[in-house]
Amino acid sequence: MTETSGGSPERPQFGESFTAHMVTSVWTAHEGWSPLRLGPHAALCLSPAAVGLHYGQAVFEGLKAHRGADGTVGVFRPEDHAARMADSARRLSMPPVPGDMFLRAVDLLVAADQDALPSDPGLSLYLRPLLFASEANLALRPAREYTFVLIAFVTGGFFADGPEPVPVWVSSRYTRATPGGTGGVKFAGNYAPTYLAQEEALRAGCRQVVWLDSQERRWVEELGGMNLFFVRGSGSGAHVVTPPLGGTLLPGVTRDSLLRLAARLGYEPREERIAVDQWRDECAAGTITETFASGTAAVVTPVGTVRYGEEEWKVGTGGAGPVTLALRDALIDAQTGGSRSPEGWVR
Ligand code: PMP
Repeated sequence: MTETSGGSPERPQFGESFTAHMVTSVWTAHEGWSPLRLGPHAALCLSPAAVGLHYGQAVFEGLKAHRGADGTVGVFRPEDHAARMADSARRLSMPPVPGDMFLRAVDLLVAADQDALPSDPGLSLYLRPLLFASEANLALRPAREYTFVLIAFVTGGFFADGPEPVPVWVSSRYTRATPGGTGGVKFAGNYAPTYLAQEEALRAGCRQVVWLDSQERRWVEELGGMNLFFVRGSGSGAHVVTPPLGGTLLPGVTRDSLLRLAARLGYEPREERIAVDQWRDECAAGTITETFASGTAAVVTPVGTVRYGEEEWKVGTGGAGPVTLALRDALIDAQTGGSRSPEGWVR
């Protein structure tokens, strides 16, 4: 199972081969946003003094369009991604892209490039909106010009092999976010600092890093690009638990969708802190029966084993558990406009 290798025409690599078009708009302090422009996917002309390259004023989003059973293409919860991107922009002192403009950009690109999405239900169109400071000026202050770009690619999912369990590595050396920092928004600078930890995880035979809180180094927060869920109990009495949002973890749209779907499926959704030693002990005692990660790219991915320093433990049977699979099915149903899709989730 790999997220970056083994691409094929049927299962393209994540984020490598883009659709034919892109949508752009430029904001200036004088004129606000320029009209959205749909054009060919092409290189941008950028000054080497562009603020975003130097001081990191750059935020992005990731959302998906799916082809439903009736053949139409629907985008999953774009309003929520627009709202999160606006939050990210405000945190980085950037002008938020207005929600209606974000949605019009999505409509334009999906209309232009939807034919690139085959009817294979395992494939989706991943949309990547990006907002960055494009003003050529090295003064250390918020820029006065920003560029919004929307590009897309067809993907089979971040984990090419679907819901196969991943081994995860709890990082003791590095942390991802601090209270008062940027962990709660989709800031470009949140990602590069995680690569070293990811290398450490790979060396330990794991696929993903589990981030602990930066204060006590004890509370499980999330993965590098996914939120985490724990299942307590089994069957209809199961509880589905995820760490509460407190500004240091990303409020995942998938996380929110799964909390709501869990309730619909009769599982009790809970937002509750879980310490790493508690995770280990409850797995050993059998009270935590499943753990899975959630995100737009990864959908729902089971966690099979956990490594933390010298310790290693298995979650449940080490395979994909029944609650994980039920939630995954419900999510995919909702995304493809199935009967359980709550009103307004698919545009
Ligand atoms: N956490 C982080 C750090 C992420 O980058 C992502 C991906 N956006 C997620 C969680 C999952 O968020 P979502 O469900 O909105 O894709």
